[in-house]
Amino acid sequence: MESKLTLPSSGREITFREVTVQDSLDLSSMNPDMEERAATWWLNTLQTGEVFDSREWSQEDRTLGLIYLFFLTQDDVKRRVSYSCDHCGERHTFTADYAILAQREVKTLESWPEIPLLEGQYQLRPLRGSDMEELEQMRLSKPTPTDSQIRFAVIAKRLGADPEELKSLSLTSYSQLIKEAESHLDEMEHGVSLRTTHECPEKGGETNVSLPFQINDYLPRL
Ligand SMILES: [Zn+2]
Repeated sequence: MESKLTLPSSGREITFREVTVQDSLDLSSMNPDMEERAATWWLNTLQTGEVFDSREWSQEDRTLGLIYLFFLTQDDVKRRVSYSCDHCGERHTFTADYAILAQREVKTLESWPEIPLLEGQYQLRPLRGSDMEELEQMRLSKPTPTDSQIRFAVIAKRLGADPEELKSLSLTSYSQLIKEAESHLDEMEHGVSLRTTHECPEKGGETNVSLPFQINDYLPRL
């Protein structure tokens, strides 16, 4: 059975075919450390008709696609989630029913967003699948990059900038750039929200929790 999904970054429609045992076996032969690469393969392989390479999809499109296929292929869509509580400071663990995501409205943009910053010198845009794959390669490379190196690489990709060129900016211009980028983040929002709340069993009071999205949890390896 085929099913259709509208990509929230652009309103473009893609069609998935039914998942077979062979697909799942093929998936199992892929390196589990390279989740983004496996996700690209999965989202491309299962498309039927004209294939829109998921390296071109936004990160949010890919998340939605994986969740959608997860619902189509799994009976059990509950996962254990743990978080640090705002009220008692302890860690709590609860079972989140991801089925709530299926009821949520998906925010779709009319066209691929590109927002000019610093008078058009840079363009703020969503991360694409190809960016996610490159960032994953960087994370797995040796010597292991620091968190701040990764953060900087993410910023450069979101701005479509060459990291070396970005490093040569004055610190004042860079701060201005980041401030401008942050003020436009709302306009970039699309896809499905993974936010939920959980009530503290000790003291009451809710904490906002972002449901973790680990790609491997959504890939049905056999
Ligand atoms: Zn608590």
